[in-house]
Amino acid sequence: MATARSVVRDLASALGAGAVLAEPPAEYLADQTEGRGLTGRADAVALPGSTAEVAAAVAWCYDHDVPIVPRGGGTGFAGGAVPIDGGVVLSLERLIHVRSFEPLLWRIEVEAGLRTAELRRIVRESGLLFPPDPGAAEQSQIGGNIATNAGGAHAFKYGVTGAWVTGLEAVIPPGDVVAVGGPIRKDVAGYDLKSLLVGSEGTLGIVTAAWLRLLPAPEAALPVGAFYADSAAGCDALERVLGNGLTVAALEFLDAATLELAGSAFPGGVPRGAGFLVLAEADGTVGEAALLRDELIDVLSEDALDVVSPEGPAVAELWRWRDGVSIAVGTARGGKVSEDIVVPFDRLGEAVDETVAIGRRHDLVACSWGHAGDGNLHSTFLVSPQDEDELARADVAAGELFALAVRLGGSISGEHGVGWLKRGQLERQWSPRALQLHSEIKRVFDPKGLLNPGKKFAYPDWRR
Ligand SMILES: Cc1cc2nc3c(=O)[nH]c(=O)nc-3n(C[C@H](O)[C@H](O)[C@H](O)COP(=O)(O)OP(=O)(O)OC[C@H]3O[C@@H](n4cnc5c(N)ncnc54)[C@H](O)[C@@H]3O)c2cc1C
Repeated sequence: MATARSVVRDLASALGAGAVLAEPPAEYLADQTEGRGLTGRADAVALPGSTAEVAAAVAWCYDHDVPIVPRGGGTGFAGGAVPIDGGVVLSLERLIHVRSFEPLLWRIEVEAGLRTAELRRIVRESGLLFPPDPGAAEQSQIGGNIATNAGGAHAFKYGVTGAWVTGLEAVIPPGDVVAVGGPIRKDVAGYDLKSLLVGSEGTLGIVTAAWLRLLPAPEAALPVGAFYADSAAGCDALERVLGNGLTVAALEFLDAATLELAGSAFPGGVPRGAGFLVLAEADGTVGEAALLRDELIDVLSEDALDVVSPEGPAVAELWRWRDGVSIAVGTARGGKVSEDIVVPFDRLGEAVDETVAIGRRHDLVACSWGHAGDGNLHSTFLVSPQDEDELARADVAAGELFALAVRLGGSISGEHGVGWLKRGQLERQWSPRALQLHSEIKRVFDPKGLLNPGKKFAYPDWRR
């Protein structure tokens, strides 16, 4: 049986002494769920510098029955990268190389630890776009985005991360390097192992590199913001955007309480009486974007208290504000229980209002914002991390949210994943046979249950 000391000694001899941290620093033991009171413990942190070293670390851990917790940028909202009960945190932060970039062929192969924003900058310099834009792009890694199948504001038009992955290299227990797909745009030769790994939250394999497809970047992107008195008027406006066939790149919303918490920094200010914001973006050539923007203004103006359409540097300012909403909301009481339920587009208004009602029932400040076009809400309850009673009430409230999502025909998670915090919740939406298939897939990839144990799918003995 491996001890903490033997873990460090043996991994250091495989990876080099500098690549193993014996006293795991606090930042490797938590993610964005720290504000919900979740931190873990680990015996060591491994920092492999190549796919071969990832494979060596996994092989050693598998051989010695040591749990392995893959870690990207630690921006996850589900506790997926938190080592719950010891083992080795395997951080991909040193795998940051661009293996190949062929701008004229619209494709790139990168290692998993490359930061999302850095990837987007690299391709943008050649006039290309990697569309997925999850909000913590400066910190998150492409491997973490793939492992969670991350979305973001522009997923409405362009799809989530998995839609841009044409091939993956991953280390699978007990330490094998497997490549599926590649620089090819179509591949139906076998079962879709690539898509199984996408969104598997580090429970089936460790992504070490990815082939990604790219697009020529749109010449222009012109957002439009429209404020309404309440969620009913705002949701009517959202439906008008689809009903009028406007192919916007992003279609976001913020409810009244979110505007109260984050609105003070909205560029230009929030109009008095505003209880709902619709934020949409038109992109394309300069001419296409301008035309679509004008149509958007027309369609959104009905019943609006105010409509804004920034241009130039104000566009980036607006999106910086939007990316900061989650953090602004979280600072109000020091913590938040923020979920990412999905409902059918036409049930969004009910979900927005029910979120507030659930919060009221549990004496919690509640709000929601998110990716309206995808029916994806960040339904949130504010908590103080020190207040055990409030945290417990927020957990019960989150359970009611999941029930609501399923009742409305949706899902418990649209982009953050199940991780540790939503373990067991899948049972609300899947049949016993579907759950059985899920667990059998896990067993095929990871028969010893050592890869990110307790996350996504939980073996019964992990359910505490
Ligand atoms: C301010 C803010 C805004 C956000 N906005 C969005 C948003 O708009 N859309 C969205 O989808 N998410 C959003 N997120 C959540 C988060 O950024 C995403 O879930 C992101 O994809 C996590 O990437 P990461 O590199 O930080 O992964 P981590 O948090 O480190 O890990 C997440 C999961 O992936 C696994 N993992 C990480 N790397 C690998 C790998 N190489 N191989 C296998 N498994 C791995 C981990 O074990 C864990 O289960 C936001 C977070 C913040 C803080």
